[in-house]
Formats: sequence, C-alpha cells, structure tokens
Amino acid sequence: MNLPSSITALPQRSDELCDLLIRWSGQNSGSANFAGLAAMLGQLQAAFAQLPGAQVETVVLPDTFAKALRVRMRPAAPIQLFLSGHYDTVYGADDPFQRCTLLTSEKLRGPGVTDMKGGLVVMLAALQAFEQTPQAAQIGYEVLLNPDEEIGSFGAGPLYVEAASRHRFGLVFEPARPNGDLVHSRKGTGNFTVTARGRSAHAAAANRPGRNAIAALAEFLVAANRLPEELPGVLLNIGHIRGGGPATNVVPDFAEALLDLRITHPGERDAVLTQLRELAAPINAREGYRLEVTGSFNRPPMERSPAAEAVFAAWQQCGRDLGLAPFSWVHAGGGSDGNNLSAAGLACLDGLGPIGDRLHSPEEWVHLPSLATRAQLTALFLHRLAAGVFVLPSQP
Ligand SMILES: [Zn+2]
Repeated sequence: MNLPSSITALPQRSDELCDLLIRWSGQNSGSANFAGLAAMLGQLQAAFAQLPGAQVETVVLPDTFAKALRVRMRPAAPIQLFLSGHYDTVYGADDPFQRCTLLTSEKLRGPGVTDMKGGLVVMLAALQAFEQTPQAAQIGYEVLLNPDEEIGSFGAGPLYVEAASRHRFGLVFEPARPNGDLVHSRKGTGNFTVTARGRSAHAAAANRPGRNAIAALAEFLVAANRLPEELPGVLLNIGHIRGGGPATNVVPDFAEALLDLRITHPGERDAVLTQLRELAAPINAREGYRLEVTGSFNRPPMERSPAAEAVFAAWQQCGRDLGLAPFSWVHAGGGSDGNNLSAAGLACLDGLGPIGDRLHSPEEWVHLPSLATRAQLTALFLHRLAAGVFVLPSQP
C-alpha cells in the first residue's frame, strides 16, 4: 500500500513530539490563570503559524479575559472540516502539579499531557504531515482552540454554533479512552443548586417552631440520589453540601447542595427536572419549608450520528493499514466541545487525541508512542478524504 512518507515517518518524530508536549504542559494554563493562558496562546499561535498558508488569529470571547485561537486553511477548498481543541487545563497556577515526569520510556506524567495538550500535539503533527501530501489542496479546515472548555465553554460556545454552519464534519482531539477507543457520543452535563429554607428556633423551644432546613434537604437528596435507578440514562452526583451554623442548639433555617446532573438523550432533560420537582413538592407542601432547584444544562448530549459511523469506519481502516492496534468507539460520560458542535448540527468524531489516563488528577499520564500513531491516523484519514478514497456522507 502506498502511504505518503510524511505520514509513515511520523513515529520517527516521537522524541520531537514528546519535547513539544513537555514544553506545552510545563506552561500552566489553568482555566482561571489568564496570564498563563496568554502565554500558552502565544506558543500555540507560533506553532500553528508554521503551517504554510495558515491564517492564524486570536478571537476575543465574551465574559472572559482569555482568547481563543483560530487557524483557517484554504477556506475555499471543496471539503471543509472543523478541528476542535482546548488549551486550558484543570490545574490552576497554585496547583502543586506543574511539571512533567518521565515514568518509563513510553509513559509521561504531567498536567494536561492527555487532556489535552497531548491532543493539540497530535492535531498539529497530523496537520504538518497532511500538508505535505499531494492532494492536500482539496481540504480546507478551521482549527479552534478554546481557553474555557474545562469550565463549560461558556465564552467559546457561540463560536461552535458559527463554525458548525461552515463545515462538513468535526474532529475533536479530546483524549482517547485508556484502551485506545474513540468516542461516538457523550452525556449532556448540567449544574444544579438545591436550596432548602426553614425557620430558625432554639433547638429546645416549646411548641417546636423551628423548621430544620438540613433535615428537609437531606430528605430530598436521599430521594434524588435514587433517580438514576428509575432513569437509566441519567447520572446524578451530590457534589457539595452546606448548611446550619456552628451552634448545634439552633434549628438551621438554610441548607444548600450542589448537584452534577448528566443525561444520555435530550428527552431525559425534562424527565429528570420533572422528577426533581416532584420530589420537592411534598416538602414544599409543609408549612414553613421552601425547597428550590435551580440551574441548567450547559452542554446537551452529543449523539451518535450516521456521518460519524462512516468516518469511524474509515478511521479504523486507516488504523489497520498503518498496522496499529485495533480500537473501537464508545459512549463517554464526560462532556466536551463535541457536545456543543453536535447541538449546533455538526456531526463529529471525538476522542482523537492520545492514549492516557487519570485525567484531572495529579497522576495524569500519556502513552508517548500514541502521540505519533494518533497523528498518523488523522493524517491518513485527511489524505484519503482529500484523494477521494473516502467520501463524507451528505447526511449529518
Ligand atoms: Zn479536555
């Protein structure tokens, strides 16, 4: 089989890709570290500007000091693809986890090595290799690197809606699963606050005038915690709880809990909110109590699409032809910008970044050889799409 040499040569660039990743991961870019984000943006801008012909610009986002990076290549080419990434991480400027450590010759631990500075290395290396292939002119693409993905992409959200209208398909470079599988769908995510109000009184007051907000909240939460048993596509996590004061002889009039809610299908949104309201109703019917659930879903579910089925089959074929370990694709509980893209009507394939594990922890690590092999997969897919070996389905 005749594969372009820029693609087959990618594994020989492994050390160079590892060095680049160590540099990028060593630059803190926690979602709230605006100085760090600006420094990271500068490094990315310089790196992507090296792609010959690339138009690179920074984009000011509403409600944040951080900017996105947009790279456009051949906007008039017949096939237009969208490549999605984020350059923020969950590790703030004061987090003790700031540097990379080589654990073995193939395993690097470090902040964002997989999620997703490793994904950005994969994306860049794939584009560098693809740009050297003979039919590259057939494909134009837009890369968007977002500074607020880890906190919900509130600033960058509108850019995805806009991008969805001018592209045929989206490629998302979030990490692969630890076994190498890609991602076909993701749960939608939401953050909710449950507020319980009662009435303060002395714990021993005659006639019991107190209404204990903590007890009311606890009753609600125990029931809410069982909701996923009735609604199998739903996940509910009680992440935080507070209420009352230091004096235990006071009936507390206030308690609050923070919930993480996830849904698999859009229809589950109303179902779970209705159930939560129904659980609150009997408490609200009691004199002196008020229990409220507020919040919203920030990312709708990303659903598996027919176009992604076809792209995934082509991706697997590329893997076989490159002699890489086989992989499948799975549903993921975590959200990504793939959710925003799919909600905006752009079908996409997610999990195209490197293989690693323990994301969002001080043990985050990446399988170093996967930087080159995942870049090979993307580059070969792009090459085959450009050469007409594979045609994108017209259905989203
Ligand atoms: Zn990520």
